[in-house]
Amino acid sequence: MGIQKVKGSLEDLIEKAGGCAVVDGGFATQLEKHGATINDSLWSSICLINDPDLIKRVHLEYLEAGADILVTSSYQATLPGFVSKGLSIEEGESLLKKSVKLAVEARDKFWDDKKRISGHSYNRALVAASIGSYGAYLADGSEYSGCYGPNVDLDKLKDFHRRRLQVLVEAGPDLLAFETIPNKLEAQQFKISKIYKLQACVELLEEENIQIPSWICFSSVDGENAPSGESFKECLDIINCSNKVSAVGINCAPPHFVQVLVQKFKELTGKVIVVYPNSGEVWDGRAKRWLPSKCFDDDKFKLFATRWRDSGAELIGGCCRTTPSTIRAISKAELKIIYQSVCVCVSSVSFKVDQNQSKDEDILHHVE
Ligand SMILES: [Zn+2]
Repeated sequence: MGIQKVKGSLEDLIEKAGGCAVVDGGFATQLEKHGATINDSLWSSICLINDPDLIKRVHLEYLEAGADILVTSSYQATLPGFVSKGLSIEEGESLLKKSVKLAVEARDKFWDDKKRISGHSYNRALVAASIGSYGAYLADGSEYSGCYGPNVDLDKLKDFHRRRLQVLVEAGPDLLAFETIPNKLEAQQFKISKIYKLQACVELLEEENIQIPSWICFSSVDGENAPSGESFKECLDIINCSNKVSAVGINCAPPHFVQVLVQKFKELTGKVIVVYPNSGEVWDGRAKRWLPSKCFDDDKFKLFATRWRDSGAELIGGCCRTTPSTIRAISKAELKIIYQSVCVCVSSVSFKVDQNQSKDEDILHHVE
């Protein structure tokens, strides 16, 4: 069973965006800039309870900055997490749905405003429902180590993810974003393969017959492997068997790891490559704070984004400590990539001119 093409699908968006679409940036970072207190086991998802209007405001800020894809505020939102706050399962499910609803409302409002303006440069954004790893729920930093201990097996991970997945899909996002997955075991539960269909750990996306695209992103702490130490080849061999996963990549890893990893992923998979690294600052999962480190400012992030794109990434954004100004820089960088490709590939200029005539007329003069 293939992925059903839906209006506004991931592939269509990438095409509309000229071959590389822009994902939004650090969500919790921006909430904190507006004064939100998120030092909580639910992290940024606490704002679903305390300040949903702020969530919508941050989504709008990223849209204005040029994001083609909004990732919802549900990364650390889990039913056990809400229950631990004294809420009922029903209230928890309602909050999960609210995370999608807030992003959809922001997208629709923004698009209604922009589409009236002729010549605007925006695309109608897609909403990706964020699904954090089990480690994100544990809130002990284990999404960066993949060490879940001896009592966590595939069935337990599957049970953990299933209801949240169902509820988020019911809320009507355009796609699913599995984020900061640290190991093969957790990625494996999303895989779809005839070979594995009869195994005990039947894949959730298949079981639930999910009909919207998904991406699965891994973190990395050494720039070569998944945080668990398992090779990305092992992880991608599993994902490549799935026709439910449209894109695969890296999130919340340091940006200086990304170019090599994009090149590696490009060799290992034919799927869309998605990257949204953090700023390069280091997260201390136990102390729950960012440690000062050598990090990328917006200009450097923008420069490297062009390299990630040239290496084959088709979805690029930012994770922790990136802001709307980072996304604005990337958004502008994408145009430059089109310019560069025309300048370099003079022999294929006629094709580019068809795609982007007004800009390329200037470039043709420049090339001459
Ligand atoms: Zn992050």
